[in-house]
Amino acid sequence: MAQSLSLSSAVSVFPCPNCKETINTSMQQCSFCHTPIDQASAEQSAAITSTISQACSDASYLKIMLGILIPFGVLTFFPFLGLAGMVGFVFIKYAVPVMTIRWWIKYGRIKTADPDFRRARGIVIPVTAIALIILAFLRVNLFGLRL
Ligand SMILES: [Zn+2]
Repeated sequence: MAQSLSLSSAVSVFPCPNCKETINTSMQQCSFCHTPIDQASAEQSAAITSTISQACSDASYLKIMLGILIPFGVLTFFPFLGLAGMVGFVFIKYAVPVMTIRWWIKYGRIKTADPDFRRARGIVIPVTAIALIILAFLRVNLFGLRL
């Protein structure tokens, strides 16, 4: 059991350099087109693949975070819930720009034609723009401060 676990964590997937089918680093040759696999470049390619999938999941997380601003914004109009809404709004308002900047530092220089990564960047660009607009123009009164 323990061995199968460690085995699965050591093997990572990457696209075949020849046919682009998803294969893994334990293979000597591609199971689809039988191209021999160079272990070093396979490991490198697998690392890029995992970075891209991380970039994609971080991008969708950012979109969700920004989306939470809407219910928090709506909450601010309700008595009693208004304070919770404002605290949440202020937190997300400052957290999202910081997180989008982190995303650009981590993944912004990746050069790839990977459609998933392009889609992730296509999400993060508008999220960054909206987050910066909100940061610049939307303020709430919280504990006497304009935040
Ligand atoms: Zn192949």
